[in-house]
Amino acid sequence: MYLEEMFGLSKKTAVVTGAGRGIGQAIAIGLAKAGAEVAIISRSGAEETVRMITENGGSAYDLRADVTKEDEVDRAVAEILKRSGKIDILFNNAGICIHKGTLEASIDEWKSVIDTNLTGEYIMARAVGRIMIEKGIRGSIVNMASMSGTIVNIPQWQASYNASKAGVIHLTKSLAAEWVGYGIRVNSLSPGYIATPMAADVPQELKDAWEPLMPMHRMGKPEELITAVLYLVSPASGYTTGSDVIVDGGYTCI
Ligand code: NDP
Repeated sequence: MYLEEMFGLSKKTAVVTGAGRGIGQAIAIGLAKAGAEVAIISRSGAEETVRMITENGGSAYDLRADVTKEDEVDRAVAEILKRSGKIDILFNNAGICIHKGTLEASIDEWKSVIDTNLTGEYIMARAVGRIMIEKGIRGSIVNMASMSGTIVNIPQWQASYNASKAGVIHLTKSLAAEWVGYGIRVNSLSPGYIATPMAADVPQELKDAWEPLMPMHRMGKPEELITAVLYLVSPASGYTTGSDVIVDGGYTCI
């Protein structure tokens, strides 16, 4: 009963971006298990995630939008309001990474990472924050950052990604301060290396180079992030806002 009061999400509507695979998929499933209805936003769809949730008695639906395009996001948010009437939670997760040295990467590549990871999260947070404020919802927004927002990964170079995630951490603090008067809490999550399709594209020699740098000598699993997100989106974290929650197996402490 106590855990249900603190962490339960029944009657809540949660929006998760990029939940067709990887971390977003695990979090969407975790939020649904805690009782939330989950609306998923991605470009290529998340039928598999919706199936995994609904087959287990949960509630979820799938919408298509590119988070870098304000008109597409506005249309998706309007559709969520039509179907669910409100938004209580945003897990602002969609993101991309390009591994390239600064002199090799093009400006278009820089822009695509910043547009998706930073501006995309800003567009989503703005669209959802506006609804929460209009409807007087004391909601919770969790922005996906990364340990790359505070440390520089080696040996791969990824300046655009690192800069985008540092931006997400400070965007989070800015929105937390700006919206605290509305009862909206805004926090970020900073995972270490997590085994997802994004990481699956990484060459094995790079993963071999990461291994000695990881105190636990392994990557995290997407499922190992669920409880941190449950904490941030539930009444359990009522006094937590503007925080960056690091779940990295100890990577950034050494
Ligand atoms: P994946 O590549 O596995 O999944 C990314 C998801 O984002 C996909 O569902 C993709 O769907 C969606 N997406 C990408 N661009 C857009 C866009 N413009 N509009 C809408 N959706 C989009 O990545 P991960 O699960 O590994 O990563 C998820 C988040 O976690 C990212 O923000 C990443 O930076 C962060 N992170 C990941 C870590 C890791 O080690 N894996 C570590 C720390 C942070 P579609 O292509 O259909 O649009």
